[in-house]
Amino acid sequence: MKKIVMKFGGTSVGTGDNIRHVADLVTKYVKDDCKAAVVVSALAGVTNNLIEVACQAKKSDAKHIETFTKELQQKHQEAIAAAIKSKTIQKEVTKITEETISELEKVLTGICYVGELTPKSKDYVVSFGERLSAPIVWGAIKDQKCETQCFTGKEAGIVTDSNFGEANPLMNFTSHLIRERLGPLFDKGVIPVVTGFIAANQDGIVTTVGRGGSDYTATILGVALQVDEVWIWTDVDGIMTTDPKIVPAARMLPQLSYQEAAEMAIFGAKAMHPRALGPVSKENIPVRIRNTANPKNTGTLITKEPTSNETKPVKAVAMIRDVAMVNVYGAAMVGAPGSYAKVFDVLGKNGINVMMVSTAVSEANISMIIKRGLLGRAISNLEIALSEKGSIVSEITTEDDVAVIAVMGASMKGTLGVASHIFSTVAKRGINIRMIAQGSSELNISFVVKEKDGAAVVKAIHEEFKLDKS
Ligand code: ADP
Ligand code: ASP
Ligand code: MG
Repeated sequence: MKKIVMKFGGTSVGTGDNIRHVADLVTKYVKDDCKAAVVVSALAGVTNNLIEVACQAKKSDAKHIETFTKELQQKHQEAIAAAIKSKTIQKEVTKITEETISELEKVLTGICYVGELTPKSKDYVVSFGERLSAPIVWGAIKDQKCETQCFTGKEAGIVTDSNFGEANPLMNFTSHLIRERLGPLFDKGVIPVVTGFIAANQDGIVTTVGRGGSDYTATILGVALQVDEVWIWTDVDGIMTTDPKIVPAARMLPQLSYQEAAEMAIFGAKAMHPRALGPVSKENIPVRIRNTANPKNTGTLITKEPTSNETKPVKAVAMIRDVAMVNVYGAAMVGAPGSYAKVFDVLGKNGINVMMVSTAVSEANISMIIKRGLLGRAISNLEIALSEKGSIVSEITTEDDVAVIAVMGASMKGTLGVASHIFSTVAKRGINIRMIAQGSSELNISFVVKEKDGAAVVKAIHEEFKLDKS
C-alpha cells in the first residue's frame, strides 16, 4: 500500500466547491488502496488579507477589524456550505470557525491598542488562514465517510527555531514528535489533515516557515512518516519552463532533479517553496507537482537522478519581482581587505538577506539585490554604519523598479556561448541589463532588468531557446 503526503495549495482550496473536489480526490486515492496525510494552505488570498489587516491594526485603525472579520466569517461559511453536505458536520466546523475568528478579532484589537506589529505577532495573525481552512477540508473528508483527524502544525509536532516569518524546523525533534503523534493514526489508515505553513517554537509560540511554506510542511511530514512520495497539488500541470501566466505556451517539465527544482524554486518558480526540497532530498523521497484540476496528468516528478532528463543547456526561465538593487560606491574600497565584509555585515546584522551580488575587478563598487520591502532598512543602516567621514563608502544608490531574470539548466555547465546567446537576445529587444551574476555551479545565469521589461525578456528567452519544444 502506497503512503503519500498530499499538499493542497491556496489555489486548490479557493472555494467550497474546490474543497469538495479536494476531498473527493483524497478519498478516491484512499479507497484505491493508499494511505494519505493531507496538508492544507489557507484559502486563496487569505494570507495576504491577514497581512494587510494586521498592518492596518498596527496603525491603530480599528474600524477595519470588524468589517474584516465579518467578511472572513462569511467567506469560510460559504465554503463550509458548499464543501460539506452533512448538517451535523457543517455545524461542528462552523463552531470551530467562529471560535477561531473570535480569537483573531481579539489578537487584532490587541495589536491596535499597542500600535505594534512584531514578526512574532505577525506570525500569530497569519497562522489564522490555515487554522480556518484545515477544519473545512477535514469536515469535507469526514463527509465522505473516511476516518480523519485535524491538527495544527504545532499539534502535529512541527517545532522550529524562533526566526519568526522564516522559521527553520528542528528536523530530528520534529520527526520524532510527528511519528509519535501522527504515525499510529496514519498506519491505521486514518487521514491526518494538517495546517501547512505554521508551526511553533520550543516554547509553543506560533511560528511560520516562510511564504508558500505549506510545501515545506508537506516535505517535513513526508520525511517523518517515511512516505513513498509527496504530492504538491496546485493550479498548473507541474513545474513549467516558465510561469504560464507570462508565457501561455510554457511546457511542463516531466522530470527534474532535486538540485534543478530547488534552483528553480529559489529563483522564482512559485510552484515550490525554496527550502521544501531540503528534507526529502536527504532521504531520497520523490516529490510530484500535480494539477488539482487535471489529476489524470502525472505532473513533474522530482528525484535525485531523473531517468529521462533533457539535456538542453537552457531548461527554464523565471522572473523574480519585488526586489531592489543597492549599489555601494567608494574608491577607498579598492584593495582594502575586509571592505565587502563590512557591507555584508551591516546587512546581515539587520536581517537583510542578499539575494545576488556583483562587483567589478576595479572593486570601486558593489551591487546587490535584496527584497524590495527591506530597501528602506538597508539604506538607513548602511548610511549610519558606513558613510560617516573617513569611511570606505562614498555613495549609495538604489533602484526599486527592477526584476531578476534567472535562466536555468543543469546542462548549461560547460556549454559554450549560452551567456552570449542570452545577452544578445535581450540586446536585440533594446532592453538594458543593469547587473549580471553567474554562480560557480553554472546551473543558472541571473541578470537584472527594469521590472517593466521583465515579462518581455522572459518571453524573448523562452522563444529564442525554443523552450516550448522538448
Ligand atoms: P499554490 O497555491 O498551489 O501553492 P502558488 O501560487 O504558490 O500555488 O504556485 C503556483 C503558481 O506558480 C502557478 O499558478 C504559476 O503561475 C506560478 N509559477 C511561476 N513560475 C512557475 C513555473 N516555472 N512552473 C509552474 N508554475 C509557476
Ligand atoms: N498560506 C501561506 C502563504 O500564502 C502558505 C502557503 O500558501 O503555502 O504564503
Ligand atoms: Mg505555493
